[in-house]
Amino acid sequence: MKTETLLAQAGSRWDERTGAVTMPIYQTATFRHPALGQSTGFDYSRTDNPTRRVLEETVAALEGGTRASAFASGLSAIEAVLHVLPVPSRLVASEELYGGTFRLFEQIHRARGLSVDYVDTRDLGAVRQSLARGAAAVLLESPSNPLVNVADIPAIAALARQAGALTIVDNTFLTSYLQRPLDLGADIVVYSATKYLAGHNDVVAGLAVAKTAEVAERIAFHQNAIGAVLGPQDSWLVLRGMKTLAVRLDRQQHTALTLARALEVCPRVKRVYYPGLPSHPGHALLASQSSGFGAMLSFEVEDAALVPRVLERVKVLLFAESLGGVESLITFPAVQTHADVDQATRERLGISDRLLRVSAGLEDSGDLVADLESALLGA
Ligand code: PLP
Repeated sequence: MKTETLLAQAGSRWDERTGAVTMPIYQTATFRHPALGQSTGFDYSRTDNPTRRVLEETVAALEGGTRASAFASGLSAIEAVLHVLPVPSRLVASEELYGGTFRLFEQIHRARGLSVDYVDTRDLGAVRQSLARGAAAVLLESPSNPLVNVADIPAIAALARQAGALTIVDNTFLTSYLQRPLDLGADIVVYSATKYLAGHNDVVAGLAVAKTAEVAERIAFHQNAIGAVLGPQDSWLVLRGMKTLAVRLDRQQHTALTLARALEVCPRVKRVYYPGLPSHPGHALLASQSSGFGAMLSFEVEDAALVPRVLERVKVLLFAESLGGVESLITFPAVQTHADVDQATRERLGISDRLLRVSAGLEDSGDLVADLESALLGA
């Protein structure tokens, strides 16, 4: 079945008794046992819940994995995946990462024995060299947050396999509708499902999907043991959002390209980062490993003093910290999403005090272009 069909009918055939076309919300903590030693297949909702299970099965099928586990947030999904690695461990990671992932590595896991080598994952030589020093896993964000840099997933997964390391891809920006990392050689895919999967800026959720049953079982064990599970209502919201993922992303990436083109010729904008632009250095590589370029873009304004003015002046875009929903958001990464990355690193990577990130939503693209232009050029 094609992705669009799986998405549209997620959970539509679960309820044989009533024929409910949408997945019911099983708002229950526990399940009655038919008799001693017997189970309906569900015992306690931390371990398994029908609404969460349908979300997990749908995502596993979409991703081409054996099993998915749903978590209370993207970070708790990444946390569970880190527990799969031995202690102590060395991890090779994209140097440009969501700030919360960086905080999890540095402020929680470093003390547990995790050492992370941050490398420019666009540079295969750097990845190879780092892996040669021994690593349990490589964790990639591609496209990365916020500069939408592209890593060669098949090449890095092959290098990791040769080095005996797992490849973990944070696929939040593209989703399996546009990019399937497990097919490209990765072992684990993680998501902030808060973003495109749920798609409506109304729920915080995470997912981890593994290719092999062995790794999937270890993640599921930690999901139950740690207990940061996604509740039934929130599982339903993600499932409901996913039904329209394909149409949303088609439209959102079209709008992102329109915005990127308009910003490229705006006099107050120095540089635009969008992999859908042929001028982006990762354009051809992304085209070879995905079926679209996503709807995230960033741009640098000519002067840092313009940033607060733009954030105050926008009337259609919302100044808020997230992405992937129906409402277009504008974010200032240096003080919001990447505040936990030290200033020197931010500056070296290009996450400057002149950089703004845009998540293109479903509003009229003309309204969005006019809004950004008037915010940038002033009255
Ligand atoms: N990964 C990426 C790429 C993100 O952008 C985010 C959040 O912004 C996360 C992970 C963390 O997800 P959550 O906020 O759902 O915990």
